[in-house]
Amino acid sequence: CGIVGYIGHREAYPIIIKGLKRLEYRGYDSAGLILYDGIDLKLSKTKGKVSDLEEISKEISTNGTIGMGHTRWATHGVPNDVNSHPHMSNSGNLAIIHNGIIENYEPLKKELIKRGYVFHSDTDTEVLVNLIEEVQKKEKLKLGKAVQVALNQVVGAYAICVFDKQNPDEIIVARLGSPLAIGVGENEFFIASDASPFIEYTSNAIYLEDEEMAIVSLDKPLKIRKIKDDTLVDPYIQELQM
Ligand code: GLU
Repeated sequence: CGIVGYIGHREAYPIIIKGLKRLEYRGYDSAGLILYDGIDLKLSKTKGKVSDLEEISKEISTNGTIGMGHTRWATHGVPNDVNSHPHMSNSGNLAIIHNGIIENYEPLKKELIKRGYVFHSDTDTEVLVNLIEEVQKKEKLKLGKAVQVALNQVVGAYAICVFDKQNPDEIIVARLGSPLAIGVGENEFFIASDASPFIEYTSNAIYLEDEEMAIVSLDKPLKIRKIKDDTLVDPYIQELQM
């Protein structure tokens, strides 16, 4: 399973596809991505290989300088197209990719269903993205805060990227138990399970520690926080050997 994200000035699609291929060694059963071109959010996902994802992505316009891609190793719900990531929230505004397991997804799902949420997949991940949406709406929070509040209700393991179409100049990332690295370029950021998808573009990497989250944004300085107590962490940028 693997994660690749991009926000910057380059076309995100080739970076994501190439990056997902570099992460194939981690094992997976499905692959998917979203791209944002400044107007539309485009989603493409399928059971199978990254090459199958490339094939079905011929049906969408693959332009856009923001995007995130995923390879899935199914834990909740069989490997099929619907259970593949990214998953969208009910409003259609939020997209998530997730490696890991949300252990307490069942009670959270029941509660969300009571509040009118509808689920299309059998995944734990779709519960998390709707929980974030519910927190965002109910408490009128910005996406970063909403992700933080939601993660504090979650038991499990995760590396996640969350994107909000209504606030499209940032990607929220967080980790607990699954790896996540941020490649820091000039006016661009890469996100990946390890540095291999972005080493050809930048040698500056930040490895998130467990229980940390970051707002990866083009117009704000990179901020890393502890998910639990909200303390700010100084970003430690590591120089990668090319
Ligand atoms: N638990 C999630 C699912 O089954 C994520 C699996 C993964 O790590 O790829 O969809």
